[in-house]
Amino acid sequence: MADEPLRSIGPIILLGSPGAGKGTQAKRISARYEIPQISTGDLLRDNVRRGTLLGLQAKNVMERGDLVSDDLVCDMVAQRLRQPDCARGYILDGFPRTAAQAAWLDKFLSSKVFDNSKGDNSSPGNWLPIVVRIEVDYNKLSLRLTGRRTCPTCGRIYNIHSRPPRVDEVCDFDGTPLIIREDDRDEVIKERLATYERQTRPVAEYYKAKGRLFSVNGDLPVDEVSETIFHDIEAYSDGTAGSR
Ligand code: AMP
Repeated sequence: MADEPLRSIGPIILLGSPGAGKGTQAKRISARYEIPQISTGDLLRDNVRRGTLLGLQAKNVMERGDLVSDDLVCDMVAQRLRQPDCARGYILDGFPRTAAQAAWLDKFLSSKVFDNSKGDNSSPGNWLPIVVRIEVDYNKLSLRLTGRRTCPTCGRIYNIHSRPPRVDEVCDFDGTPLIIREDDRDEVIKERLATYERQTRPVAEYYKAKGRLFSVNGDLPVDEVSETIFHDIEAYSDGTAGSR
């Protein structure tokens, strides 16, 4: 049987607080649809490492934990989205972070569809991003993050509440004492969750007002969360979905 051509999925935005399982789900989406995951944090860090003009402009802002200006980030994203590997879709990770970036993205994508209208049969609707928000109960998030332990030797991740090692605080695989990530400490977690709420709320509200925000219950087992997300993405790209 001839291979079916891969379907066009369009842009996907994943919103979810630290510990919500965004990284895990992004990898699964990327593998299922064979589309790239584009992280603005990674792109910026790469520019800083290479000492580009953008990197020099962004470095101090990033070190303070502030947001890089919308203009700089949007130009960088525009360049990345013009690469051929984004033709069928992509997952945006860490972008948009402000309502202005979300509005810029809609405008950019609408003009891109118009530019491509000769060779591309996707409808503009498919090319406006679907936004999936993974929601996890605050107390569970805190438990997930404070319970996380990592093996510094092999990188295996445990959770003392839900996936403990056989012997307390020791890696099952190589016997190394487990460590707590610097940013998983209780004081830092509160700050990370508050920052996320502050930054993301306007973005979620922007998409909610446009009927493109899909909320998924991230307290469910990881496979069930993936299935729900796949279902939402496919219904949206077929044009059969309403947001919830
Ligand atoms: P992240 O790896 O997503 O946590 O991003 C690391 C840092 O890069 C952030 O603290 C910001 O300084 C900057 N950054 C990443 N994405 C954006 C964005 N969409 N808008 C502004 N700054 C960003």
